[in-house]
Amino acid sequence: MPKHVPLRSCVACRESKPKRELIRVVRVADDRIEIDRSGKKNGRGAYFCPAQECFESGQKRRALNHALDITVSPANWDELFTYARETLPVHKVPTRIPAMAGQVVRPIKRLQGFPPGGDPSGTRNAAGTRSKGREER
Ligand SMILES: [Zn+2]
Repeated sequence: MPKHVPLRSCVACRESKPKRELIRVVRVADDRIEIDRSGKKNGRGAYFCPAQECFESGQKRRALNHALDITVSPANWDELFTYARETLPVHKVPTRIPAMAGQVVRPIKRLQGFPPGGDPSGTRNAAGTRSKGREER
């Protein structure tokens, strides 16, 4: 059994990821936001993907403001961006969720071709005038 991995979603892009792969920010005193490196600070928290782009869209979309019920000041955003620029890639990388590693996600099987005889819908149309035609077989 895979261990339960708590998931959180990024406030900017809404993707769910394991909590520990996300960057937690927390609302601290004086209506400020701080990066919560430990992930354990008290206070209302929100999560970002570890990518500069999510911090940026979080600002543009005011996602963080909504999530934490706060108006993050430009200076405060600068601090967050500075952190993001120093430690994070610009773009997020595709995630693999370990919680799902045990579950094989099978790609949806595509029909490789219609059964011999051609387009079934054409057959149906041809038989459409007599709906009970199937019973003749
Ligand atoms: Zn994100």
